[in-house]
Amino acid sequence: MSGPVAMLRCTTYNTEEVEHAVRSAVGLLGGMSAFVKPGWRVVLKPNILRAATPDSAIITHPAVVRAVAILVREAGATPILAESPAGPFNKAALRLAYTRGGYDKVAEEVGMELNYDVSTLQVSHPEGRLIKRLDILKAVADADAVIALPKFKTHNLTRITGATKILFGVVPGVTKFGYHAKLQDAMRFSEALVDIITYVKPVLTVMDGIVGMHGNGPSGGDPYPANLLLASADPFAMDVVFATLVGMDPMSVPPLKVAASRGLSSCRVEDVPIVGLRLEDVRLEGFRYGTATTMDTGIFPRAIRRLGRRILAARTVDGKPACDTEDYAALDVGTAPKSIRSWVTRQVVANPQATERCIGCGVCVRSCPVQAISLVNGRAHMDWNKCIRCYCCHEVCPENAVELRRSLIGRLMALGSE
Ligand code: SF4
Ligand code: SF4
Repeated sequence: MSGPVAMLRCTTYNTEEVEHAVRSAVGLLGGMSAFVKPGWRVVLKPNILRAATPDSAIITHPAVVRAVAILVREAGATPILAESPAGPFNKAALRLAYTRGGYDKVAEEVGMELNYDVSTLQVSHPEGRLIKRLDILKAVADADAVIALPKFKTHNLTRITGATKILFGVVPGVTKFGYHAKLQDAMRFSEALVDIITYVKPVLTVMDGIVGMHGNGPSGGDPYPANLLLASADPFAMDVVFATLVGMDPMSVPPLKVAASRGLSSCRVEDVPIVGLRLEDVRLEGFRYGTATTMDTGIFPRAIRRLGRRILAARTVDGKPACDTEDYAALDVGTAPKSIRSWVTRQVVANPQATERCIGCGVCVRSCPVQAISLVNGRAHMDWNKCIRCYCCHEVCPENAVELRRSLIGRLMALGSE
C-alpha cells in the first residue's frame, strides 16, 4: 500500500458535483482503470453503521457511492455494495439499511448490485498479528477487489473512524461484538483492525468528508461540513491526513500507531504526498473530538503521568506488554483489588448511560459484548462494573439515547486535554 492522497473541495451532495469531485480525485491517482480491471467484481464497502438517512451524517452518502459505482462500471467492472451494519446480519436488516440510506435508488440508477448474501467465511490470515483466522462476509471474500468508502467521523474508541477502521464492517454482524469482548482496549482492538485491513487490502479508498461528524461520533455526534473529498490507495496515509486536518497527532490515533509499529506508515504527514488541495488550503475550525477520547491526566504533574504510563507499560499479557506506554484508553491499576480497579476506571473514563430519550428497544442490550446492559423499568441500565467501555451501545442506539459521561474527578482530569 502506497501512494499519494488526493484531496479536493466539494461543498454539496448534488450528484453531478459529487461525481465531478470523485472523478477528479480518482483521476489524480491515475483513474479507476489503475485500480480495477474489466470483468472484475468489485465490492464497494461504505460506512453503513446502521440504518440511517443520508442527512444524519452517520453513513457514507449515497451520492459518493453512486459516483464511485459509475467509475467502476466505466472501467468495465461490476460494482457490488456490501456491508455488515452493527447488529444482526440478515436480509431484513440489510434491506432496511439500503432503503433508508438511499442506496437502493443508486443501485437501480447505475446498475450496482446490492449484496443480500448473508453467508460468511472463515479465512486464514497467517500474517495477522492477533487474528490468524478471520470471519468475513462471503461477498468480500469472493470479490476481485474492494474499494472502501469511509466517512470523515470521530470515534469514541479509536478517535477517528476513517480509512483504517472502516473494514471492521467486513466482519459479520454480532461476530463484531466478540472481537470487542476479546480485545478490550483500544490498542489491541486496533491491532485487529490492522490485521483486517492487511487481509482485505482495499485497492482504493474514497472518503466522504463533504459532511462528516464531530463530537461523539460515530453516531451520536453532530454533522460537520468539512467540504472535502479524499481518495488514496493508501488508507493509512489517508488517515494521517485526516488526523492532521482535525489537529490530532496521527500517533495518538490507535490504529495509526499500530500501523507505524508494523512499518506500514511513518505517521508523519510530511511523508504523505498530497495532490489537489494543499494541507494549508484547508482550515477546519471548531472540530470537536469524542468525550471518551479527550482523556489526558492533565491536572497531574508530568512526573506522575510518566509514572502512570510506566505502570501501564509494565503490565503483561502472555509475556507481552499489555498496552503501549501512551495508551490513553487502557487504564488499569495493576494488581489492586477488582473493586478498587473498577472504581478508579469509573472515575477516569467516560461511562455510557441511557438518558430519558431511551425507548427501551433493547438494541443496545443485544449489542453489548459483555452483557453489561439490562432493561430496567423500560430503560437501558448499564452495569459499569461489567462494562469494558467499547461504546458499542452508544454507536448502535437508534435514538441517540446513550450519553458518555464522566465523574467530577474525570471531568477535572480531562481539563486541558485536546
Ligand atoms: S439506550 Fe437506545 S438502544 Fe438501548 S434500549 Fe434505549 S433506545 Fe434502545
Ligand atoms: S455497556 Fe456499552 S460500552 Fe459498556 S461494554 Fe456494553 S456496549 Fe460496551
